[in-house]
Amino acid sequence: MFLDRDGVIIEDRSFVSRPDEVRLCANVEDMFDLAVRRGTAIVLVTNQSGIGRGYYGWEAFEAVQARMLALLGERLRSAAPLIHATVACPHHPAEGMDGFRIDPMGFRKPLPGMIDFALDRLALDRRRSIMIGDRDIDVAAGMKARLHRSIQLLDGFDHLRVVDSASETQLRRPMSEPVSAFLSRHVFAD
Ligand SMILES: [Mg+2]
Repeated sequence: MFLDRDGVIIEDRSFVSRPDEVRLCANVEDMFDLAVRRGTAIVLVTNQSGIGRGYYGWEAFEAVQARMLALLGERLRSAAPLIHATVACPHHPAEGMDGFRIDPMGFRKPLPGMIDFALDRLALDRRRSIMIGDRDIDVAAGMKARLHRSIQLLDGFDHLRVVDSASETQLRRPMSEPVSAFLSRHVFAD
């Protein structure tokens, strides 16, 4: 399972760079609990052009990651490793500083480079993998990487756009259905 970070795991406050800015998204623990229970490998793929633009450095990025993991650890019922790998792209084609404009590996979403890199390094099966993000660039990256399914969170985990090679649908969680049941029907369904 490939996950975008900002807007999926933590609230997207545009260029989150300090641990005290980190807030977990609502219901994210339901998604992680389902993934952990199924033994799903979890890989973060995150555009971090704030680094290339000079807004913050890798140390700040790592401090935010550490805070995110600590908060997740408090919320989760499981204790398994939460995130198996993180791939972050610091480049920006227009606003990156010197050395950060050119993205030689095609990592910046909507390109699929980060996903392809992790599939290769971790020997994952792209046809059994899914991508979850909050923007259309996340879905585009997942489609270009020819993953099994790509999902855009249109309103957190309550309203999903689900795209695969054969179909595209939008689904809203019925008020009566718990988030975990909704996600297990639509995100984790085979
Ligand atoms: Mg995002």
